[in-house]
Amino acid sequence: MARIIVAGGGHGGIGAAALLAKSGYDVTVFEKNARADMGYDWTDIFDKKGLFAVGLDLPAKEKYAFKNDMTFVCPSGEHRLRQHTPEDQLEIQMERKDIYDMLISHAEECGVKFAFETPVLGPVMLGNRVAGVRTEKGVEYADLVIDACGADSPVRSGLPAYLGVPGKTGPYEKFYVYRAFYERTADIPEDNFKVLLLHNNVLGISWVAAEEEHTDVLIGRFEPFGMEEVETELASLRKEFPELGEKRVRGGQFVTIPVRQALETMVADGYAAIGDAAFMTVPLIGSGIANSLKAARMLADTVVSDTNGEFSAQTLYPYQRRFFAELGAGLAPIACIKLMLTKVTSREVDYLFASGILNEGDITMGADTTSIFAMTGGMNPVALKIKAAGLVKDKELLKKIGWMAGRIASVVSVCAAMPKVYNKKALAAWAKAYRKCFEI
Ligand SMILES: Cc1cc2nc3c(=O)[nH]c(=O)nc-3n(C[C@H](O)[C@H](O)[C@H](O)COP(=O)(O)OP(=O)(O)OC[C@H]3O[C@@H](n4cnc5c(N)ncnc54)[C@H](O)[C@@H]3O)c2cc1C
Repeated sequence: MARIIVAGGGHGGIGAAALLAKSGYDVTVFEKNARADMGYDWTDIFDKKGLFAVGLDLPAKEKYAFKNDMTFVCPSGEHRLRQHTPEDQLEIQMERKDIYDMLISHAEECGVKFAFETPVLGPVMLGNRVAGVRTEKGVEYADLVIDACGADSPVRSGLPAYLGVPGKTGPYEKFYVYRAFYERTADIPEDNFKVLLLHNNVLGISWVAAEEEHTDVLIGRFEPFGMEEVETELASLRKEFPELGEKRVRGGQFVTIPVRQALETMVADGYAAIGDAAFMTVPLIGSGIANSLKAARMLADTVVSDTNGEFSAQTLYPYQRRFFAELGAGLAPIACIKLMLTKVTSREVDYLFASGILNEGDITMGADTTSIFAMTGGMNPVALKIKAAGLVKDKELLKKIGWMAGRIASVVSVCAAMPKVYNKKALAAWAKAYRKCFEI
């Protein structure tokens, strides 16, 4: 049976590894971290259907909770909009380490081998084909390399340019984040999970989420930042939110989250990217666990259908097609919204909230809402009238929203025109048109 290497223990990579090992493939995951260091010291929120996609069930009841709705706060702090997620779309919240425990033990039961503490350095090419990976412990050959090394994957960035798989990220494609849990020093407020947009007029977000054991803080920016800025922001947040204490009880790392549209070319001969390595997160909020796990099912189905074991760009392309059809085409317009948000001022965001241009329906992004098309809650005729009335009063904002609407219209039609079958030239032309939708 064919040998498959998963480079990096990303969620989607491990999910695909489990499905493929169960189908009889010889699968090994090469991961730089030790087993005990897998996952971060924090909780994550994701669509439970991701677990079902890779053959898992919900964990024991004490291992997860349903997520509370978020309350978005405008820069001046004067207006708030709260999500109202339908009950059947509520996402679950789990410890990241518990998610990894579930995925890894399931994969091991399916027959996946893990090589921990084995950093991957780059791809091994044989002619035009990816034939394996270089690791710190030597070269490993395989019939297929699944790249689950995250956004800065050395496999993806080491691929020759002629394969068409983008190597590096561009501006506004990564979010720099500080996350930590602090002592909770007041009762849990009714709107416990607040997301502050352009807080203190800085391009980025901060969130403060009071939970039973702690208050969870995330500070995110489009540029790297340090502890000095964290301390300034924390001091400001403490003045507004008494539930945020001084003592840090967990976490405290700086990390990055990809917020790019999905890769325009995610397959090559002998290669497929998944998860953050293929930029499968929701570009506005950076959630990527469920999408990676759903993609794992798509990739495993495609690999199993390749009964000749070619694993070429052509035979792997149905994976990319399916990903775009089910998720990627819906994520792409959200990347256009993200770009528009990098252009608006604090005053304009305040106005979006105050005028009703943005309403609670718009920001109710439920578990199924990895697509802008599901954000229809705020688009009823009355709401549309309010939005239009608000926009005509602010010409500058209208221009920016018009720019975004034009980009969304383009990317929707470009995604619909994605080549149905693999053709290198046609895919390269399509990828160029897709990239153009996100130029700033
Ligand atoms: C602060 C923060 C909060 C987040 N919150 C959420 C959330 O609530 N919900 C949600 O859905 N998503 C969330 N995300 C995003 C989520 O973590 C990712 O989208 C998701 O994990 C999919 O990424 P991945 O597993 O493919 O990649 P990664 O999480 O980057 O995993 C890549 C793996 O590859 C390994 N690796 C990297 N380089 C090498 C190498 N050279 N050799 C070998 N191994 C390597 C890494 O150690 C890691 O194990 C959050 C991310 C951050 C940073």
